[in-house]
This record gives sequence, structure tokens and C-alpha cells, in this order.
Amino acid sequence: MSVDKKVLQEFTLERDNELRFEVESKTEKVYLTLKSGTAEVFGTELVKAKTYEFTAGAKVAVFTWHGCVVEVKGKTDVIYTAKETPMVLYSNCHAALEVMRVEADRENKRGPIAMLVGPCDVGKSTVCRILLNYAVRMGRRPIYVDLDVGQGHISIPGTIGALMVERPAVIDEGFSQEAPLVYSFGQKSPQNNQTLFSILVQQLAITVKERLEVNKKTRASGVIINTCGWIKNAGYKQLISNAKAFEVDAIFVLDQERLYNELVRDMPNFVKIIFMAKSGGVVERSKSLRVEARDQRIREYFYGTPKNSLYPHSFDVKFSDVKIYKVGAPALPDSCLPLGMKADDHLTKLVPITPNAGILHHIMAVSFAENEDDIITSHVAGFVCVTNLDTERQMITLLSPQPKPLPNNILVMSDLQFMDTH
Ligand code: ATP
Repeated sequence: MSVDKKVLQEFTLERDNELRFEVESKTEKVYLTLKSGTAEVFGTELVKAKTYEFTAGAKVAVFTWHGCVVEVKGKTDVIYTAKETPMVLYSNCHAALEVMRVEADRENKRGPIAMLVGPCDVGKSTVCRILLNYAVRMGRRPIYVDLDVGQGHISIPGTIGALMVERPAVIDEGFSQEAPLVYSFGQKSPQNNQTLFSILVQQLAITVKERLEVNKKTRASGVIINTCGWIKNAGYKQLISNAKAFEVDAIFVLDQERLYNELVRDMPNFVKIIFMAKSGGVVERSKSLRVEARDQRIREYFYGTPKNSLYPHSFDVKFSDVKIYKVGAPALPDSCLPLGMKADDHLTKLVPITPNAGILHHIMAVSFAENEDDIITSHVAGFVCVTNLDTERQMITLLSPQPKPLPNNILVMSDLQFMDTH
């Protein structure tokens, strides 16, 4: 159903119902206001009479536990009320995690480490958000770990990272991004370099465990881990290896019984495997929508959101002032491998790059590494984009969220590109 821009619609939702809508993918805005009762969007409570703005591409569910009246203004692609939702199930999962947190708190132990798995487009990220929001609403401070390099919910696509969640996600923006811990993988799918991906996951797991050690509140609150939809063959092995690296206590399997049964078979008994139905509201995204979402995510990194604009800087740096590397070299045939080198060593080989036209529009991670040996396993300070290259002046122009100087001169090139059309 398409709704005219000027039209104001009022919806009365019964308890346990959900109003779902999508904002048209071109420059439309939709405004949502809670008139009475209580309601939440993916676990964040709506404030009565406050108007929330949703921009192009947003897919939203307004759920109510006790009934409410909401007003929607603007042109939506789809809008309908659903009576069947899995929210009771999700809330029960939260309650089970909360029991583990109470016990962890009492005994000064580590709280639950839970991982969400499932195919693409089943709502893994959304369930993570709901569970994290419910946890912070109970006064917890859980860590959100995102291993989904395809979308990059914590930083930009091509990264994995962790974030301590201290307050519920902002309804139309997501979780606040203060001081996230980010590792740059540099590709949009773990399949492209599973060796490197595994190294980074292990490194992230070590750092997250260290953070749990030093903060009692966070330790008892535990961790919620989001993963990507790559679940078959090598992807399945990767899920098992993620679970081991983080020493998970629970795995929530969304929508796929086969994956659920495989995990029950392969994981040790102390890991609880829980099957979860997918919400009928989860919207499938086409390949082109995913590409668009990735692009938008990078644009937001530099320019912010319509509600919260950022003003990035553009400056030149001399070729000689930066050291650019790429992780991964082309494979050598087995017969050419130097003595002692393994067949997949090339995947983690550090290749120095002399600035050339091939780096144009590429995202570069600004590494925290102090020397070459640390580059692969170092987390990153942030990202810049190469917007121009002048071989005559031996200069590159960088788009950067921070002004000059760069926090470090070691840049690691990502496969991801961004066309700065601003
Ligand atoms: P990926 O395959 O990228 O890992 P995912 O399984 O994490 O995807 P989500 O990103 O959580 O899936 O959900 C896909 C889209 O569906 C999102 O835009 C989200 O806002 C929307 N969505 C999730 N749940 C609902 C719902 N109940 N009603 C309406 N939209 C929803």
C-alpha cells in the first residue's frame, strides 16, 4: 500500500502486535509518533509525543507489549499491522541470558557469551539489537561484537569490531559509536580470505576477553555476537571457530533447522543451542540493495546521517609521508613455494604499495601498528579514502573524518571503494 506524503495515518495496535513499514528507497522521509500507550522499535522504547524520522530504505517494526496508538506521516512503500511476531520468544531468550547474568554478578564470574547465527536476511542483526537493548534497559553493559564484514554495523563494511553498549540504540540511528574496537579485514566477504578472517576473529576475541576482565559490570553482562549469513561448508567451519575463539555459552540459530542440528551435533554439551523462528517482518535484500547499503554505510562514516551531519576533512599527504600496505599476495604455484612456506601463507603476506592509480577511491585503514610486524593484528584508528592522486607532485588527497595529521602513517588498503560525490 502506498500512502500519500501529506496523509497522516493513525494506527491502534493491540497488545503483542507490530506495525511494520518500509520507507521508499528514494529521498522519502517518514515520521512516527507515539500518541498513547507504550511501544518499542527493535527493543528501544519510544518516547510519547516525540517524533522520529526515518529516511530512505528504512525497514521498521513498532512493537507493543501492552497496546498503543501511533501516528505515521509520509510516504511508505509498505505499511501493515502484524499479529504474529516472535517477540515473546526473543524476550524469553533475553530472560534466560538475564538469569545467567544475575548468577555471574553474584559469583563475580563472566556473564553469557551468546552468538547469533543463520542464513542471510533472517534478522540476525535485529535480534542482536533487541537482546542488547533489553540488556541495557536492565542496567547491564554488554559488549556487542559484529563479525558481519558484509554490512559492518559497528564500523564500515569490511571490518569486524566490538562496542560496549551503555544505552539503548537510538531509534532512527542505531547504537552510539563511542570508541569502538575495530579490525580491518578489507573485504566484503570472509570467504575471500578466510585465513586472515580467522586471525582477526581470534585477535578480537582476545581483546574482548581482556575488556571483560577489567570491567566487573561488563564481565557479568557478557557479549552478544552477530555473524554473517555464510553458513555452509567452510562458512560452517568458520562459525565453529568463531564459537571456540569467543568461548560462547549459547548459540541462537535463526530460521534454519539444519544448521541448528549440525551445531547440536558438533558443539560441546555445555554450549546451549537454541532455535529461533525468524520474524515474518524481516525484509530480504537484493544484491543491489546490499551494495547500496554498504555504500550508504561508508558515506555515513564520513558525512554522518541526515539528522546528524558530519563534516569530513580533505587534505594532501606526500607519498613519502605514508606507508601503504595491502594484506594478501597472489598465490604462488606449489612448485614455486620457498622452503618452509605454506600454501596459504600468501593470504597473510604484507605487500607494500607504491601509490599508483590503482589506489584511487580505495578505503584505507589507519593502523595503530607501531611497526610492520604488528600490522595484520592491530586494530585501527579509523578510515580514510583516497580521493585524488597526483604523481607529479607525489601527493595523495585523503578524505578523513579527522583533520590532519593522521594518527599514524601506516595505511592498510581495503578492497572496498567509495566514490566521494559530495
Ligand atoms: P544479513 O544477511 O545482512 O546478516 P540479517 O539476518 O542480520 O541480515 P537484519 O539486518 O536484522 O537481517 O534484517 C534485515 C532487514 O529487515 C533490516 O532492514 C531490518 O530493519 C528489517 N527487519 C527486521 N525485523 C523486522 C520486522 N519485524 N519488521 C520489519 N522489518 C524488520
